[in-house]
Amino acid sequence: MAWDTTDTLGKGDVVSNESLANLLREERRFAPPAELAAAANVTAEAYEQAKADRLGFWAEQARRLTWETEPTETLDWSNPPFAKWFADGKLNVAYNCVDRHVEAGHGDRVAIHFEGEPGDSRAITYAELKDEVSRAANALTELGVRQGDRVAVYLPMIPEAVVAMLACARIGAAHSVVFGGFSADAIAARIADADAKVVITSDGGYRRGKPSALKPAVDDAVARFDTVEHVLVVRRTGQDVAWTEGRDQWWHEVTGRQPAEHTPEAFDAEQPLFILYTSGTTGKPKGILHTSGGYLTQTAYTHHAVFDLKPETDVYWCTADIGWVTGHSYITYGPLANGATQVMYEGTPDTPHQGRFWEIVQKYGVTLLYTAPTAIRTFMKWGDDIPAKYDLSSLRVLGSVGEPINPEAWMWYRKNIGGDRCPVVDTWWQTETGAMMIAPLPGVTEAKPGSAQVPLPGIAATVVDDEANEVPDGGGGYLVLTEPWPSMLRTIWRDDQRFLDTYWSRFPERYFAGDGAKKDDDGDIWLLGRVDDVMLVSGHNISTTEVESALVSHPKVAEAAVVGAADETTGQAIVAFVILRGTASEDEELVAELRNHVGSALGPIAKPKRVLPVAELPKTRSGKIMRRLLRDVAENRELGDVTTLTDSSVMDLIQTKLPSSS
Ligand code: ATP
Ligand code: MG
Repeated sequence: MAWDTTDTLGKGDVVSNESLANLLREERRFAPPAELAAAANVTAEAYEQAKADRLGFWAEQARRLTWETEPTETLDWSNPPFAKWFADGKLNVAYNCVDRHVEAGHGDRVAIHFEGEPGDSRAITYAELKDEVSRAANALTELGVRQGDRVAVYLPMIPEAVVAMLACARIGAAHSVVFGGFSADAIAARIADADAKVVITSDGGYRRGKPSALKPAVDDAVARFDTVEHVLVVRRTGQDVAWTEGRDQWWHEVTGRQPAEHTPEAFDAEQPLFILYTSGTTGKPKGILHTSGGYLTQTAYTHHAVFDLKPETDVYWCTADIGWVTGHSYITYGPLANGATQVMYEGTPDTPHQGRFWEIVQKYGVTLLYTAPTAIRTFMKWGDDIPAKYDLSSLRVLGSVGEPINPEAWMWYRKNIGGDRCPVVDTWWQTETGAMMIAPLPGVTEAKPGSAQVPLPGIAATVVDDEANEVPDGGGGYLVLTEPWPSMLRTIWRDDQRFLDTYWSRFPERYFAGDGAKKDDDGDIWLLGRVDDVMLVSGHNISTTEVESALVSHPKVAEAAVVGAADETTGQAIVAFVILRGTASEDEELVAELRNHVGSALGPIAKPKRVLPVAELPKTRSGKIMRRLLRDVAENRELGDVTTLTDSSVMDLIQTKLPSSS
């Protein structure tokens, strides 16, 4: 594929940054369904209330939880940016997620409908969950785990993952969940950073129709330390495992001999709840520390507000992995604090067939679905006819998280999954924010495809320019959070300096999220991708998200990732990697067509210099595109850190696309 420079603009061309930030105009609007709006959990009044008294608003939300000692103080911001929320309150997080629902008479309600990949299933009621969590808490205590200790969890998507997390919370130990599937090196790095004394794992889990081993990676990692005292092993697949006597114990044996009663002790609201490492999309993962009372308040509130959860009738399903923050906040903590019934699925969406997700929605009558743009784009690629075979009429709210959702993917989701009836809520947040921050409310907000739109009630976010001035409506710049929020990270584990440098030094007294954003003419927020990924072409900032969305709006493109690669003439040149839909095949004509398509959507300066059709894109385990690796390829450099990549062979394939970049 030859470089084509004929219509790349030179340095002198006049295109203002502002117009570039607004080139992609999206005029489609979707009002909330009348029925949903009439019965919505949260109405427009919440914004008013929170605006009038932000701390009062959060103090009221904290009353969703059951406190042993009610907090009298809401926010302590005397040592910014180190926040304390509800600091004089005491509670037990696991009690809030489990016991109190049983005490309120909902013990028979299903907490988790587990669907294993091979087709085995299991329904766990709140009463059963209470017994399991209690036994596991007793087991950890027997193994010597105490308040303040750290426990590493490396499990597949099975109910024991939730039980293990809640058992830690119940005894005041912090968990550090590591994605099942990460390498021994990644596990070892996380065990070392957190000083974990116990690791909970399994023999394996089912993936793509086969048992896939987990314990060997743990064995390899744990052997590097003498600090790990015990490895608890859940039996999931029954495959053979190596065994270290004295260190390894079967989960079912240790928990099986414990009583099902465990009295939960109340801990301070600021008791550490977990450490979780960021996805590593932009660099070395950061150990994000979250604590108890504020975190649980905001995860519970946002789950109630953004999904409009009615715990008696809804069936909720979040397809994220438990090893990602979405799994923490919107599988374990938020939904269980709210007494929700949810589906948990172990495997991949195409096992044994590409309709598996929709079969699950139909089987359990799922009403609220939370998934990621990467999954939605994959479903688009597989074709509309697949979801069309299933009854999806139970669905009423659809959520998206993880990356900016391309308007075309949003439209596809709404139409093919939501039957043109369900609101789509695009939720912007991060591991660091702990819970959703910017999202429409399904009963209030007139939705715009591709935009997260408005900060939730009680959240203060805006877009600023280089000098920290708020941009006017229609302007673009950096997303910042301007007031502390209950579920904010408290620090980077054992690295306060990195916490200050990463988030609080770019702009004074504002949290720098690292994402580019723009405000439209209504003041609604559109996320434009990571600041690290913004491309600078002939002196103009161009957002990766907008070029990718323009590519995805072409009927032959399923997915796209663009990067700015060093270029002698223009500083950076746009290189696009695209996955074609179904039957489309690669040829010179299609490449020209795609370049022109972007040109007419966004203007000539946004035309990719090269368009490279590829079979796969490099993604993190949470499904995010790792543009920095594509940039390495486009610039002929050695690849950077690939430890959080799902499948590193993808990079080999892509590199063969670029035999030389001259
Ligand atoms: P690292 O910080 O290590 O590079 P990461 O940022 O990918 O990893 P996460 O905390 O899992 O780790 O991801 C948060 C990021 O995901 C956000 O900063 C943003 O870039 C992106 N993101 C999440 N949800 C959305 C959304 N709804 N719209 C746009 N971007 C989103
Ligand atoms: Mg990040």
